[in-house]
Order: sequence, then C-alpha cells, then structure tokens
Amino acid sequence: CAGHVNWDVTLFVDALPAPDAEARIGDRREGGGGSAANVAVALSRLGVTSGLVGAVADDRDGRNARRELREAGVDARGVRVVEGGMTAVKYLVVTPDGETCVLGTEGVNEAFSTGTVPPDYFERAEHLHLTGQDPATAAALAVRAREMGLGVSFDPGRRLAGRADDEVLALADVVFLNEREAEAIRERVPPGRVVVTKRGAGGATAETPAGRIDHPGYDVEAVDSTGAGDAFAAGFLAAILDGDGYERALAVANAFGALVAGAPGTRPPFDPADVADRCGPA
Ligand code: ADP
Repeated sequence: CAGHVNWDVTLFVDALPAPDAEARIGDRREGGGGSAANVAVALSRLGVTSGLVGAVADDRDGRNARRELREAGVDARGVRVVEGGMTAVKYLVVTPDGETCVLGTEGVNEAFSTGTVPPDYFERAEHLHLTGQDPATAAALAVRAREMGLGVSFDPGRRLAGRADDEVLALADVVFLNEREAEAIRERVPPGRVVVTKRGAGGATAETPAGRIDHPGYDVEAVDSTGAGDAFAAGFLAAILDGDGYERALAVANAFGALVAGAPGTRPPFDPADVADRCGPA
C-alpha cells in the first residue's frame, strides 16, 4: 500500500460545530490513521502480508504511527522517516449519527517517491494499492509496479480525483470510488477495469468486465464511518488475492466496511471471523 500515514485524533461531539459555536466534546481517542496505513493494517488483520510506502516525521506522532504499524504486523520499512517537519495529524470530529468532519495538516505526507521504496517490495509483492498521494508519485509507483508484474488498485481517497489522475486510472486494474467521485470521474476510467463504487449504508456496486454486481451492504448502527472505505478496499483486495470471485469480494468488502462504521475509531479491534459470519464460507 502506498499513500498517507497520519496520526488521528477522533473527537466525539453532540453536533458538528457551527463556525461560531463551540462543540461539546465527549469521548476522545488517538491512534494511527491515514488511508494507506489503514488499508495495510486491515490487510494484515485479514491475513495478507502487507508493506507500506509513505512518510512520517521524526516526531512523537510519527513514532507512535510506526509502532502501531509494527504491532499490526505491517512491514513499515517503506515508511520514510523525515528529519524535521511534522507527521500529518487529522482531527476527526464525529457526531452521534456517525457523520464526520476532518480537519488537519498534511505534514510530510508527500515526502516519498519510487526512490524511497525498498526494492524488495516490488520484487516480492503481488499487488500495489495506491491511495491519496500526489498523482505524479502515484503514477510513477504504478508504472514500476506494472513493469514488475504486480496488480494495481487506486482509491483517490478524500482528495477528489482530477485530470492529473488519468495516468494512474489507466494503469489500475481496480478503482475504488465513493459516490461523489463516481459522478465526477467514472467516465474517465478506461474500459476493462473493475470499478467499485461505495455507497455508505447503501452498500456498493462493482462494474466488472463480466457485468455489474450490486450488494445492499449490511445493517449496522453507524457510530464512526472513518476508515470504513479503507477497510472496504482491504476486504475486496484480500478476497481477490485469495482467488475469490468479485461477488464474494464485494460481500467481504461490505462486511468489513460495516464493522468499521459500526465501531468508534478508524481501526477498531476486529476478528476476521466476524466477516466470515456475515458473508458465509468462501
Ligand atoms: P468512504 O469512507 O470511502 O467515503 P463509504 O462511506 O461509502 O466510503 O463507506 C465504505 C463502505 O463501508 C460502504 O460501501 C459500506 O460497505 C460500509 N459502510 C459505511 N457506512 C456504513 C453504514 N452506515 N452501514 C453499513 N455499512 C457501511
């Protein structure tokens, strides 16, 4: 996985703050975040060996972020430690109905390139998942991955994809979009790709070369949907890397997304058996 590595501070409030009002903060949590890091951790929890490419600063948040990655079993050698600067910190303000507003800094998040990736990542990996980084870096990583015979997936994440992403869209086999991104860029994804559109509580759709698959999603009381899209991508990728068909991949993705949306925090504790319980045996 390549992209952002953040330190997340989640604040649970009674309502999203109006510009001139103070929010009443209830519970407060801190933990590792960033879409690429979340996907790498989720993959590792699903039993897929994962390595991460990104950057943190040599500060407290960066050290904590890397420690959490190691504890989750993620190979973090590809996370560059930048002297000076700041690790990206995000404040996630979450209301009781699970609605989230994100504020924060990007810190040193873009301070990596193909040159900082340990060469054995490309030699040993089967797949590269790109999310959130600047389009030129994403495209350079995708080109290298393709040369080395890896599959490639792309999720523009919270940054709305623009024209600059066309190169990476052309290099990816699987593209994950939310509904807003699907409206904006669906037409620009070249034919032959698998396009997965996430619809929050409404589940998801996969458009594959063999046809369209819809899944209604799983019923869950939304608590904090931060990280649900990352868990969703990890579930989908874990299933296809395991040789499952797209139908099951979509079910596993929705199950994992629902589990994360239904619990507080970006990477809530989770048992792979919970996913299997919802989706049935492979
Ligand atoms: P993103 O976080 O990328 O914007 P979504 O909010 O659509 O994406 O969530 C990703 C996936 O997580 C959804 O497609 C769905 O599978 C699951 N999910 C998110 N919110 C809910 C919810 N309230 N109920 C059930 N599943 C959810």
